[in-house]
This record gives sequence, structure tokens and C-alpha cells, in this order.
Amino acid sequence: VKAKSHAYEVQIGANNLTEAVKSFNDQLSKADKIIVFTDEKVWQLHSERFTAEFPYPFEVNVLAAGEACKTFDSFFAAHSFLLEQKCTRKSFVFAFGGGAVGDLTGFVAATFMRGIPFIQIPTTILAHDSAVGGKTAINHPLGKNMIGAFYQPQGVLYDISYLSSLPEREVRSGMAEVIKHASIFDEKWLANLMEANSILHFSQVELARHLEQGIRVKADIVAQDEEEHSVRKFLNFGHTYGHAIEAASGFGKLAHGEAVMIGMVYALILSERYGTISPTFTRSFIDFALRNGYSFDAVNKFTFEQLQGYLMKDKKAEYGVLQFVLLKQIGEPFVQQISVEECQEIDRLLRVLIE
Ligand code: NAD
Ligand code: ZN
Repeated sequence: VKAKSHAYEVQIGANNLTEAVKSFNDQLSKADKIIVFTDEKVWQLHSERFTAEFPYPFEVNVLAAGEACKTFDSFFAAHSFLLEQKCTRKSFVFAFGGGAVGDLTGFVAATFMRGIPFIQIPTTILAHDSAVGGKTAINHPLGKNMIGAFYQPQGVLYDISYLSSLPEREVRSGMAEVIKHASIFDEKWLANLMEANSILHFSQVELARHLEQGIRVKADIVAQDEEEHSVRKFLNFGHTYGHAIEAASGFGKLAHGEAVMIGMVYALILSERYGTISPTFTRSFIDFALRNGYSFDAVNKFTFEQLQGYLMKDKKAEYGVLQFVLLKQIGEPFVQQISVEECQEIDRLLRVLIE
């Protein structure tokens, strides 16, 4: 990943943790302290194996699982932990967990003594997206990811053998981001995913291939536009309407990717108008989602008026106009302004299609 501050590697493999961490020996052997941040679920499942495989002495800070770790309280507690451990600017932090642990740890690393180095060890499929690119954040009660920084890790070490304990729902959530990467980048790859018997039960080799491709898309975009002035916006495909559904449901109730899947269908319907996506394609995409256990039930729990409030809270919304990432065709994203009136029209069309 070629970021402005420095370039870094994403290593992906199975049972490669020890070797991957050792590749940082130059930096780690000079560190006065190595701290691992993780969450209670991940630690319960993997502490023994991780401790056996991690090649250096370390202290561990176990966080609450899921969004619960992205709070100001756990951010503050993390700083207290680092201070109590007598960490300095020569200390090194690892994030061992999903996107939530990664986002919190990254922001702690960005701010502890104005910045100390950190490495991501993602343990979810979704984190193939979140661990790469340097967006770090915690939540504010008034909005998700509202407090954060762009702060790049020193590396991303992906050992996908740790992913085998993921519940199916988390696999489904994470695969939605893989589908997003395919949709905005490569028609053949998306077709390949849509033809699969089940995207929830890939072999390790197949999964590694899809994750690697997803990471390439993300890395390529981040190299062009780290701070989201232009092409990085494309990564928000499915996220405008998706976020509204996720927020209305209450964050954490609906897995992020489940909401994004709904948002991608919404964006496809819009793309029929502004691009060359056919209604037949949108239909086949919905069927593909249903076949793989994604649900659209969340939509019917809210009226458009209820969703509208959340849509207008989008970071990109202004004066009754919303920004959507749409597709000219699969693999060709662009940004389009859409009026609230048209949003409502598309919302109606979506409700008919998923009946
Ligand atoms: P998560 O970290 O909350 O993990 C999901 C659940 O899976 C948690 O309960 C966790 O304990 C559990 N888990 C993690 N690894 C496991 C394993 N190997 N086996 C069993 N259970 C495991 O969430 P996530 O879905 O990985 O990521 C979502 C978060 O990422 C959100 O907070 C979102 O805002 C953030 N995000 C950030 C970016 C970015 O660019 N920084 C991009 C996308 C999403
Ligand atoms: Zn996302």
C-alpha cells in the first residue's frame, strides 16, 4: 500500500502468523514494549494459539467485543493501559481482531504520545477492507466513526486460518465488502462470485484469492486518494442507503455488511437510470443475495421518512441532495448527486422488488 507517510505490505496466508510477525524483526527487536489489543471473543477463542505463535514477549489489552470497543471510554482506558505499562514512543502496538479492534487500536496508536507504530492482524473477512487504508476511528453517541484520524499501519498481517472460527453471520457480513470491491472493479470477478454455489463456504485457497483481490482494489484506490477527495469515494458503493438502514436498526443489531448488501441493491436500481445496469441484472443480484442468506427484512421495519433522517446525516449530504456511488456498468463506478425526492422514488422501487 503506497500511502503518503510510508509504503507498507499486506501479507496474506494461512498459518503464517509467526513468520509474518518475524518479518518485522528489525523494528520489533528495538521496541521497548509490545502491546497486543484484542477483544474478549477473539481472545477467548485464540489466546492460546496466538500466544504460542507470536514470536515476542507482549502485554495484552482485552477490549469489549464489537462496536462496544469503539467508545471514548475504551479509548481512554487504552491510553491508561499504555501509560501504566510505561509505554513510550518506542513501543509497538498490534491490533488482533476485527474492524472494531482495528479502528480503535489505530486511533489509540495515532494519538498515544502523538503517534506510535502499529500493525494490523485482522481476524474477520470484513477486516480485509478496514485494516487497509489507514482510516481509524471511535464512535460518538451522535454518530459512528465521528472521531478519528488517517493513520497508516506499519503492515497488515492476515493469517486467514484464524478466520475459521467466524460465525456464519460475520462471514456473510464480510463477504458483502468483497462483493462491493468486485462490483466497483471487475465484472468477471463479480460474475465469478455470483456463480459460486455459496459464497459462505469457500475453501481457504479460494477465500484467500478473493480477499487478496479485494485488498488490491482497496490498496490501489488508497494509493491514488488516501484522504477521500476523489476515487476513494467509490468504496462507499452501497454505503449511503446501507448506513441509513444500519443506523435506523441501531448499530450492531444489523451486521454492517448485511446493511451494505441492501444498500448495493438500492444503488443498482439507481444505476439503471444513470448507468447501463439492466433490471434483469438487479433481479439476479437480489436472487444471489437471497441465495446466500442475506435478508431485506430490515427495509420494511422503517418508512422512508424514518430513513430520510439518517440519510441526511451522511457525511456527504447537503441541502436536500445526497451523493451516491453508482455504476455505469459493473466495474465502472462514479459519483452522482440525487435529490431526496428521487431517493424516495427509488426506495419505493426497492420495496416492490424485495416483496
Ligand atoms: P468486529 O471487529 O466488531 O467483529 C465482528 C464480531 O466478530 C465481533 O463480535 C468479534 O468479537 C468477532 N470476531 C472477530 N474475529 C473473530 C474470529 N476469528 N472468530 C470468531 N469471532 C470473531 O467487526 P468487523 O465486522 O470486523 O468490522 C466492523 C467495524 O469495522 C465497524 O466498526 C466499521 O466501522 C469498521 N470499518 C472500518 C473501515 C475502515 O476503513 N477503517 C472500513 C470498514 C469497516
Ligand atoms: Zn463497509
